[in-house]
Parts: sequence; C-alpha cells; structure tokens
Amino acid sequence: METAAAGVKTEIPTAENGAQKARHQEVGHKSLLQSDELYQYILKTSVYPREPASMKELREITTKHPWNLMTTSADEGMFLNMLVKLMNAKNTMEIGVYTGYSLLATALALPDDGKILAMDINRENYELGLPAIQKSGVAHKIDFREGPALPFLDELISDEGNHGSFDFIFVDADKDNYLNYHRLLIDLVKIGGVIAYDNTLWNGSVAAPADAPMRKYIRHYRDFVLELNEALAADHRIEICQLPVGDGVTLCRRIN
Ligand code: SAM
Ligand code: CA
Repeated sequence: METAAAGVKTEIPTAENGAQKARHQEVGHKSLLQSDELYQYILKTSVYPREPASMKELREITTKHPWNLMTTSADEGMFLNMLVKLMNAKNTMEIGVYTGYSLLATALALPDDGKILAMDINRENYELGLPAIQKSGVAHKIDFREGPALPFLDELISDEGNHGSFDFIFVDADKDNYLNYHRLLIDLVKIGGVIAYDNTLWNGSVAAPADAPMRKYIRHYRDFVLELNEALAADHRIEICQLPVGDGVTLCRRIN
C-alpha cells in the first residue's frame, strides 16, 4: 500500500506485506507527520546533528524513565530554542517540567542573565535531569518551584509588578487546567510576548469522531483540549498560530 506524503511516496507497512514495523519509536515523539521516514529524515538531518550534548544527555536519561512518553521531542526542543532566541526573550516561565528537556532547550536560548520560573508538582523527575542542566552551565537561570502551578500563578498575579512581565511562557502540564492558566497568564505575559500551549492536537484525537477508539487518558483530556482550542481561537487579546510540531503547539501572541 502506498500513500503520498509531502510529495514523497511512502510505503505503509502492513501485516500482509510482511513489513510491519513499529512507527515513531523515539521517546517523546508524537509527530502528526504521516510518514515515519519523513520524521526520521528531519531528526537525522537537522535535529540530532545540532542537538547540544547536554540536551542529548538529558534525552538519554529520560529514555530510561518509565514515563518517558511525556517528554518534549528533540525537534520540538529545537523549535522552542530557536523561538526563544528569535524573540530575544529574557524573563520566561514553564509550567510542566518533567525531566527538563524543554526547560533546558529554553535555558540554553536565554542570555546569561535570563530567567525561567519553572513549576512542577514533581521535583524528583526534575532532579533526574538536573545534572545534565548543571553541566551545561545554565542552572543559575532556573527558579524551580515544586507544587501545583495555579496557587503559584495566583500569588504572582497578586503583585501588580508581575503583570506584563513575562516574555515567553511554555505550558505543558495538566490539560484540564489550561484554560484556568490562560485566565491568569494573559495578564502576566507582556503585550507582544508569547504563551505557547503544548499538545493542542492531542494525539490527533481533536479531529477524530467522538466514538473513535482512543486510549483512556487521551479520551479523558480530549474535551479540555477541544475547549481550549476554541477559546483561544475566539480570544481577541491574542493572535494565534497552531503548529503541527510534536503533538501540536499553539503560539498565542498577546496583542492587548
Ligand atoms: N515539558 C516537559 C518536558 O519537556 O519533558 C514535559 C512535561 S509533562 C508532559 C507534564 C508535567 O506536568 C509532569 O511533569 C507533571 O508532573 C506536571 N504537572 C501535572 N499537573 C501539574 C500541576 N497542577 N502543576 C504543575 N505541574 C503539573
Ligand atoms: Ca507536551
């Protein structure tokens, strides 16, 4: 069986042609690309050869962790790193750290006096990746807070001085709280700054019929992701750009 993806004919493995093989084996990979070969091409040609040694080390540490499915993929890490540099971001935030792959991608992109306020309910996983972050010489940029993000955001917002103070915010945590985060983050990000919401295509389930077979956790959060995507599209305080990188990332640029 053949299909055309990006103008390239790609064989789809089937049981019949004896070429059945697992697709997308990379840890953290949730690419929506239709061809695994195309994704491999991207990784091998432009991502892995340019991935900093510390990010490779952190990726390899994460591979051994049982929850490695949660990590940001290497191509998305490269995207975040480039975005933060293009924006000249200095004061940033991350909600949802896990072992720190996206955190390190951001930290490496910031100037030496740049900052990341990083929040996660789980410090243990952050500490797994911390030696790689320390080796890379960017740990001083990170202010890690252990605990649920919402109370931290409530505290931040209670100080007027924090309003409009963040250049870039990456949200990659509990999908059922994204809209609650958005209500607060919109005041914390500066006009012209960007909030990036991760996993907004939620394994492709956002476009699947409601009765399609889905893993339990995909089904559980699907309605929250659908609701978020509609709310972002209707929010006139931001411009949005939905990208099919990783599991889908929506960039929201605050305009007023
Ligand atoms: N950005 C990470 C990376 O690059 O590897 C992946 C983050 S992972 C998908 C989601 C993280 O959100 C988990 O580490 C989890 O502990 C954290 N999390 C879940 N609920 C949270 C909450 N209410 N507040 C803060 N973090 C939370
Ligand atoms: Ca994610």
